[in-house]
Amino acid sequence: MSEATTGTATWRDDFSRVLSPVFGTPQLDIVRGRGSYVWDADGKQYLDLLAGIAVNALGHCHPAWVKAVSEQAATLGHISNFFTSPPQIALAEKIHEILDLPEGSAVFLSNSGAEANEAALKMARRAGGGGRPIIIAVDGAFHGRTMGALSLTAKAAYREPFAPGVPGVVHVPYGDVDALAAAINDTTAAVFIEPIQGEVGVRTHPAGYLRAARELTSAAGALLILDEVQSGIGRTGTWFAHQDPAIGEGVVPDIITSAKGLGGGMPIGATITVGTENTGLLSAGQHGTTFGGNPIACAAALAVLTTIETEGLLDRAGRLGEQLRTELAGVPGVAGVTGQGLLLGVELAGDSPDAKAVAARALEAGFIVNPVTPERLRLAPPLTITHEEIAPFLTALPDLLTHD
Ligand SMILES: *Cc1c(COP(=O)(O)O)cnc(C)c1O
Repeated sequence: MSEATTGTATWRDDFSRVLSPVFGTPQLDIVRGRGSYVWDADGKQYLDLLAGIAVNALGHCHPAWVKAVSEQAATLGHISNFFTSPPQIALAEKIHEILDLPEGSAVFLSNSGAEANEAALKMARRAGGGGRPIIIAVDGAFHGRTMGALSLTAKAAYREPFAPGVPGVVHVPYGDVDALAAAINDTTAAVFIEPIQGEVGVRTHPAGYLRAARELTSAAGALLILDEVQSGIGRTGTWFAHQDPAIGEGVVPDIITSAKGLGGGMPIGATITVGTENTGLLSAGQHGTTFGGNPIACAAALAVLTTIETEGLLDRAGRLGEQLRTELAGVPGVAGVTGQGLLLGVELAGDSPDAKAVAARALEAGFIVNPVTPERLRLAPPLTITHEEIAPFLTALPDLLTHD
């Protein structure tokens, strides 16, 4: 039995003896969560300003989520995709509703963001009847770690050790409409874009970029695929980031991918095809999954979406985010704030310690933040967080940004 609860931190040794090294050494052994807080094995409390990387949309162990998951687990846990279940249909109906999808649109349910993008990739291979070899992604993009999604991910350190990736993937420079225009032609199957790039430090695209991407792909007969795995599910103040006119510029994508916040902590991914033609890219038998769309994950996701609605969390994420942006920008040592709503990048001034050091000190002080790049912290707290809960972090931040 683990002695972690004695505070001797043997869990670190236990971990490295039996678990894969890919994540490095874990920072904490977390045993419990409630709302915006988690507790480690020593009973120390942390304010969770990362929420499992934009996953715990309702915070930890929200009563509506716990009820949905436990009641569903006690009713029907898993079937197979030879069958459907009420939570699966109800969730898909809700997704249609929040995106105001036109008739003929459809939801393919899987288990993660990478899988949602893998399905989109297969759809891209069928664009224009097939035979279009090129798929475009943007520098700074993160689309996941499986071979297909990894091929779309820009960061060389993630991708190059596993070369060759999926053939035909091209990365274009960030924010450069001319480069995008030069890259798109009738050999292009699809362009993948995150409306807000999360892993590169939370950045939006320059004004006009998404609109240009839509016009160029439409003109070339290529698909526009928006990866909203991180930016969706209420985080920016609208259900999906692209529904905010300032971010999405009125663009209607062909395909939207979702995951992270959708399940609120249960693994689920969704690949959403807009309109009959896009839905028809894959036909019966051309794709599948064993676990995808299982009743428990769907019940969890449905609870997330309905609770966001009943608790008015879209509005709250937008307003609290605005307030936070202003307050963070006024903190000495902060050079700027990027992102929107409750998906924020805090850019550290040149004379601040690097983000990793700041995150380590924050953890010591009881705050979970993410050093997403050496110069930026990422904040993606639960959508249920209150200003009162965040206030101690804002008070502590100037000290955390000062060298010893
Ligand atoms: C996290 C993320 C993914 C990958 O999701 P997984 O669930 O880790 O596979 C894909 N795209 C974006 C934008 C992400 O933030």
